Amino acid sequence: MSIRNIYIDRGFVDHPETEKLISRLPDAQQRIVSDASEVYAEIEAAEDPVARGKEILFLTANRGAFVRPCPGTREYTCCGYWILHVGSFCTMDCSYCILQAYFHPPVLQYFINGQDLKRELHRALAEGVFRRIGTGEFTDSLIWELWTDRCRWLVDTFGAQHKAVLELKTKTVGIEFLREADHQGKTVMAWSLNTPRIIRSEERGTASLAARLRAAEQCQKWGYPVAFHFDPLVIYPDCDAEYREVVRNLFSRIPPDSIAWISLGSFRFMPALKALIQKRFPESKIVYGEFVPGLDGKMRYFRPLRLKLYQAVVEEIRRAAPDATIYFCMEDEGIWNRCLGIRPSQEGGLDRMLDRRVKDLCGLDP
Ligand code: SF4
Repeated sequence: MSIRNIYIDRGFVDHPETEKLISRLPDAQQRIVSDASEVYAEIEAAEDPVARGKEILFLTANRGAFVRPCPGTREYTCCGYWILHVGSFCTMDCSYCILQAYFHPPVLQYFINGQDLKRELHRALAEGVFRRIGTGEFTDSLIWELWTDRCRWLVDTFGAQHKAVLELKTKTVGIEFLREADHQGKTVMAWSLNTPRIIRSEERGTASLAARLRAAEQCQKWGYPVAFHFDPLVIYPDCDAEYREVVRNLFSRIPPDSIAWISLGSFRFMPALKALIQKRFPESKIVYGEFVPGLDGKMRYFRPLRLKLYQAVVEEIRRAAPDATIYFCMEDEGIWNRCLGIRPSQEGGLDRMLDRRVKDLCGLDP
């Protein structure tokens, strides 16, 4: 999707960050707005509000917390992640994207009050508590770097401290700015991976699998730790074989000892997302599997089906990387035990497991 309109919160018209963004989007029409409701009303009135929300870039302030703990769920094993809220929504268009139903309405927002973000981040980094912090929870981490330099600032800032690691999660390959960044191994570059079939049918506007793996290989050669997220794993005929092939592809390019972690999570969705997918992606078949409601209210594949696919992917990863740190997103300890032979609670918790791995990889004090 391309940006057709930039709406600017009246309070930030003369802000240097606004001027920079506007200069990098010369073809977008600009409008000054006094209230966010003007933007929301226009999006809600569109025939496809989700698509319209991807064409409008709203430059405004984040009036909530920039650094916040990931809410996770009480019912499933959580990883103790922290979110750095740089902006919201995404220019790409995946059928299964939860953000379509999460924001009301969904709109591409970039937070101009970067000074507040910087202050809050520095305060968090000074607290002396180790954190894994990511920007890819409410958006794709790298899309903003087309128009801003905030990601570069983040990589340099994390490179200059010893109390946290940054994870940038993406489906793009816009990595050039990382070449010169002073990362000091404190930024984990992470890609979501899927089979070429799913990327073609469900992930509109994203980079191909081959391009993602090439980008990961390049970052690894620049000294960045890397990570991979097989999420969502989608079940379809022959999916086991195709996911195994993705894993083999991955390890043909990436040395196992440069990988911080690999996560696995199966496709799950809030009931409200189903109608949206059916309407916006009529060709998509992903909502027609054997689903059951999970403890978090989301629909998920019937357990034996999830287990079978997880076991296939884990077996293939273990073949190439017996010691890789693998974790499950939103699964219970029974799944962990059946697939990995461990229970996070017996290892001190998933958060501790991931902290240990990344500290070891990044040369941080245990
Ligand atoms: S890349 Fe991520 S954030 Fe963007 S549309 Fe796809 S799932 Fe949503």
